[in-house]
Amino acid sequence: MHKYQGLHRIVIVGGGAGGLELATRLGRTLGKKKKAEILLVDARMTHIWKPLLHEVAAGSLNSYSDELNYLAQANWNHFRFQPGTMSGLNRDKQIITLAPAFDNTGAELLPERTIHYDSLVISVGSHTNDFGTPGAQEHCLFLDSREQAERIHHHLISRSLHYVSGEEGPQRTNIAVIGAGATGVELTAELHNAANLMVRYGLEQNSGEMQLTLVEGSDRVLPALPKRISKGVQAQLNKLGIHTLTGTLVSEITADGIKTRSGEMIKTDLTIWAAGIKGPEFLQNLDSLESNRINQLIVKPTLQTTQDENIFALGDCASCTISGKDGDFTIPPRAQSAHQQASLLAKNLTRKLNNQELLDFKYRDHGSLISLSSHSAVGNLMGNLMGDVMLEGWMARLFYLSLYRLHQMTLYGFWRTGMLIAKDLLERSTTPKLKLH
Ligand SMILES: Cc1cc2nc3c(=O)[nH]c(=O)nc-3n(C[C@H](O)[C@H](O)[C@H](O)COP(=O)(O)OP(=O)(O)OC[C@H]3O[C@@H](n4cnc5c(N)ncnc54)[C@H](O)[C@@H]3O)c2cc1C
Repeated sequence: MHKYQGLHRIVIVGGGAGGLELATRLGRTLGKKKKAEILLVDARMTHIWKPLLHEVAAGSLNSYSDELNYLAQANWNHFRFQPGTMSGLNRDKQIITLAPAFDNTGAELLPERTIHYDSLVISVGSHTNDFGTPGAQEHCLFLDSREQAERIHHHLISRSLHYVSGEEGPQRTNIAVIGAGATGVELTAELHNAANLMVRYGLEQNSGEMQLTLVEGSDRVLPALPKRISKGVQAQLNKLGIHTLTGTLVSEITADGIKTRSGEMIKTDLTIWAAGIKGPEFLQNLDSLESNRINQLIVKPTLQTTQDENIFALGDCASCTISGKDGDFTIPPRAQSAHQQASLLAKNLTRKLNNQELLDFKYRDHGSLISLSSHSAVGNLMGNLMGDVMLEGWMARLFYLSLYRLHQMTLYGFWRTGMLIAKDLLERSTTPKLKLH
């Protein structure tokens, strides 16, 4: 491990929507002034904002142009980066363990290592929860990482290649997405848009050749959001010709499709599982830190874990319950939660260094916007002045896009974000609207 500079060392594990914002903020303050040493650890070398993954899967976004290299970000913002996958924790010795790393051939690149911390932040996110459904791991594709999103895209392109070569091929592609939460709905709408673009580029004969089905266990799409958003989104999905099956519980996935609890068989060529989340397995019984049944670490409103005040957790891997005006409320696993928690932790870790009392997390629900691909979005915005406003169409789409721009603003600052927007506009006018390979 690198030389320990004698400064208070803050180790942040997981550079996602929350962790990378936190490392950047702390680097620019404590790191720059040499008041603390900030070290970010991530299993990957680059960051991509997870809410963009459905666009990568559909091919409407080239993931390589929107990823950020951790080493470069660390260099620009006065923190250090160490690649590695956290696998263990020793609270007495205040060390975390990183698993050995291997290359594609299985040769060891890095041995198992340990890193000492004074304060530790765990922000390792979540992955899809298949609830142990038989056949899901073998026959479904998931949307947890760039590689998985790209697998979905390659699948789509390879099924359509025969049109370009003029060969006989499958007549119709049946794609089912399980889970009509925000991820499932956005992915289905994006795939619909991709199907239309594929026709334009000669990869399909007509847009009816991709049948999209959205399968949901509860009685409406977007069950976690207000009913009027579900209604608005359902109307848009109907307009796009997307088949929605609500109140349908999945019992098994096979190579041919989905078996439902009521005994029906839905035939599919491609099944994508987008329902539910859970934290990584290693968080269960992590040196006696308290966790829940979906592997999230239980944290106090200060975002400190309940068993150890030097260990914090934020984002999807943390379960934080706070009191609201309607009673106790558990913070939802969303990018806006991770963003707000990163802002609070930047303050709290500075206060901890100065021996000041820590602040409690206060969640500001800014509303929910669901993107229905490039032209539209549906959702509500919550504001102090306006109250709860329902939005639809290009206006909602504009606010939806601003979520990502806010994330970029925290990472790059105002001017560089402006230049990135200009670059994106230029790129969009000079490259195909769909990734064609
Ligand atoms: C397709 C999709 C669309 C979404 N759309 C929206 C949306 O529109 N609005 C919204 O609010 N939310 C949305 N979400 C949810 C949002 O992406 C998450 O809530 C948010 O990314 C959580 O942030 P996080 O920092 O907790 O974790 P993540 O952003 O997932 O980051 C976790 C990081 O930890 C790293 N990591 C994992 N395990 C380890 C380990 N053992 N050791 C080291 N590093 C590790 C990962 O490489 C990753 O960089 C969407 C999610 C998906 C999948």
